Amino acid sequence: MKTLKIAIQKSGRLNEKSVQLLKNCGLNFENYKSSLISQVSNFPLEILFLRDDDIPEYVQDGIADIGLVGENVIAETEVDVAYLQRLGFGKCDLKIAIPNNSTIQTLQDFEGKAIATSYPNILGKYLAQNNITADIKMISGSVEISPGLGLSDAIFDIVSTGGTLRSNGLKPFCDVMASEAILIGRKGEENNHLIVELIQRIQSVLRAKETKYVVLNVEKTNLDKVLQMLPGVKSPSVLPLSETGWVAVHSVIQERDFWDKINELKSLGAQGIVVMPIEKIIL
Ligand code: ATP
Ligand code: ZN
Repeated sequence: MKTLKIAIQKSGRLNEKSVQLLKNCGLNFENYKSSLISQVSNFPLEILFLRDDDIPEYVQDGIADIGLVGENVIAETEVDVAYLQRLGFGKCDLKIAIPNNSTIQTLQDFEGKAIATSYPNILGKYLAQNNITADIKMISGSVEISPGLGLSDAIFDIVSTGGTLRSNGLKPFCDVMASEAILIGRKGEENNHLIVELIQRIQSVLRAKETKYVVLNVEKTNLDKVLQMLPGVKSPSVLPLSETGWVAVHSVIQERDFWDKINELKSLGAQGIVVMPIEKIIL
């Protein structure tokens, strides 16, 4: 393979973050809204801009080598592809929701009921696993209005904040699937050197995103305690300050325990704490 082809969403919720991820990997390309294909100038990669629904099949059939798409779409199209990397964005849940005044109380109550969805395959599997036979009504958009119109007793759809459900008089009944954006590839191609290099670049960007670079000043008497809190990639750097008895510590911390650690560091007398984003971490 001389040039790798990656399929990403042309426009929609995944487009911007997909483009940003590839740019953060150091890839240079033009991102014209009108073009369907873009050539990366500094890596043998071609980007195909497609509807997200088409991406899993394009990858399975080899029209694209890899693709970036929501797990929900992969599951719904029931393709046989390799999961190469979870990407941590485009997170959402697929839920069954019912009208606020519904009499449905248990999953068994869905027997014989009508459920509207754009995800008939995922829903069908879930119901079958639970031995329930319901009438799945395939609707391609605005599923949430269907109970109000008397078309169904419930819906099965993507829910992120729940605001759309609420404004349509619906409430979540149960979670069926959690989804995020995933990099997929054709089975058997996982070891292609271009794919391996791209995954390494993506992983270094993802690692960096979870991590912050911290610089702070502390009195030597508290240095040991501070070092224990900031393990760093290998270990923190300690530099003397011109003021005697003081040192500067450079290290990295995980974004998720950022505020806990900052408060603890302050209580150890750390001063001039600067926290900076990291672009890439290459291990
Ligand atoms: P396309 O025109 O490419 O077919 P679409 O309208 O089907 O786009 P989008 O609404 O852009 O799809 O959503 C793309 C993906 O983003 C979803 O399949 C899902 O994986 C993810 N996603 C994350 N949060 C949400 C959300 N709140 N609503 C819908 N999709 C979400
Ligand atoms: Zn779509």
